[in-house]
Amino acid sequence: MLVFKFGGASVKDAEGVRNLAHIIQGYQNNQLLVVISAMGKTTNSLEKLTKAYINGSEDIYAIYEEVKAYHFNIITQLFDKNHPVFDDIQNTFVEIDWILEDEPQDSYDFIYDQIVSVGELVSTRIVNAYLNYSGITSQWVDVRGYIHTDNTYREGAVQWDKTCTAIRRDIPPLLQKSIIITQGFLGGTSENFTTTLGREGSDYTASIFASCLQAESVTTWKDVPGILNADPKLFSDTKKFDELSYSEAIEMTYYGATVIHPKTIKPLQNAKIPLLVKPFTDPSASGTVIKEDGVNNFEKPVIIVKQNQVLLSVSAKDYSFITEDHLSDIFRIFAKSHTKINMMQTSALSFTVCIDDQAERFEPLLTVLNEYFRVRYNSNLKLLTVRHHKNNSLQELTNGKEVLLEQLSRNTAQMVVR
Ligand code: ASP
Ligand code: MG
Repeated sequence: MLVFKFGGASVKDAEGVRNLAHIIQGYQNNQLLVVISAMGKTTNSLEKLTKAYINGSEDIYAIYEEVKAYHFNIITQLFDKNHPVFDDIQNTFVEIDWILEDEPQDSYDFIYDQIVSVGELVSTRIVNAYLNYSGITSQWVDVRGYIHTDNTYREGAVQWDKTCTAIRRDIPPLLQKSIIITQGFLGGTSENFTTTLGREGSDYTASIFASCLQAESVTTWKDVPGILNADPKLFSDTKKFDELSYSEAIEMTYYGATVIHPKTIKPLQNAKIPLLVKPFTDPSASGTVIKEDGVNNFEKPVIIVKQNQVLLSVSAKDYSFITEDHLSDIFRIFAKSHTKINMMQTSALSFTVCIDDQAERFEPLLTVLNEYFRVRYNSNLKLLTVRHHKNNSLQELTNGKEVLLEQLSRNTAQMVVR
């Protein structure tokens, strides 16, 4: 069996949905499970809606109506006006209506997952309805009954045994009947609350299904020709990799290459399932294949840019040396606030880290750190990571930029720049 994943960009408008149907049409003779993300930038909009709701800001309904109008505009272009999908989508949005009617009581992360998850619930309903409307039989599966997670909202940890047991029990007989359409990014807790797996987590969903079902391959359909050595939106003259090894792909995603979610590769590597990254605009193109014996060809260095970074230095309140005791306290504080450290360095009197600027995590982190340490920080920075750097590549990249922190190893260079 095959697993496909379509991201938000591939279903951002009616044309995208038609194209998806066209691609799937070519695979109707396969057993196929299709994982789909929210349409276009819906997750960002629902994230904004969550913030507006929590802060009680006035624009709640403006944001919400825009999200709804966007989806209704797409289905108006795809279906005739009596099609049941209109009611179906209306009813799915009702989940958000109910939340917005009351004052926020629960934690930000919990509310976030309940609201943001609606993006995937509606996108999959639309795609499933459209496939059947155009003569391709498919069934909609609620992923929350299969991907079981703990209750770490916004970062649900997958309970693998429970998940694989449920998937192996129910999915193969369903696949005998027709193509399955299901949601990326979502999971469910044992109390039936919705969780999410972390931003851009739909690739991970595809990889979980594939590894539990021992799929032949996973294909993620993208708006790029495959995996490139750098983001084509930031660099001209990029080069596509025909192949990559699992390990190199893991390294790339670890440093922030957003083309695949970092958790995606490991389960596939363990189960020896290749991951294909292909352009949805040109389904017959070869794309990039990630596999165990993938041959890495680094003609050009791999450049990964992480935007919106904060460089934060922590030192002891009494100006004493930074000791291992301090470090273990600091790491505990970071772990508790679920803040991932992208780069770090210690010196005699301070410990410096580069982290993502995520207001809802950063503010509470700062409060706790300030209690025990002296803290200084700079925001609005970029973290550049260069794998397999060549003689001049670093020089060229940092030309005209102020480098605040730099680390160099044989294969990897990292620089925090302004
Ligand atoms: N829709 C989610 C996001 O944008 C998940 C995904 O796209 O993979 O983060
Ligand atoms: Mg997305």
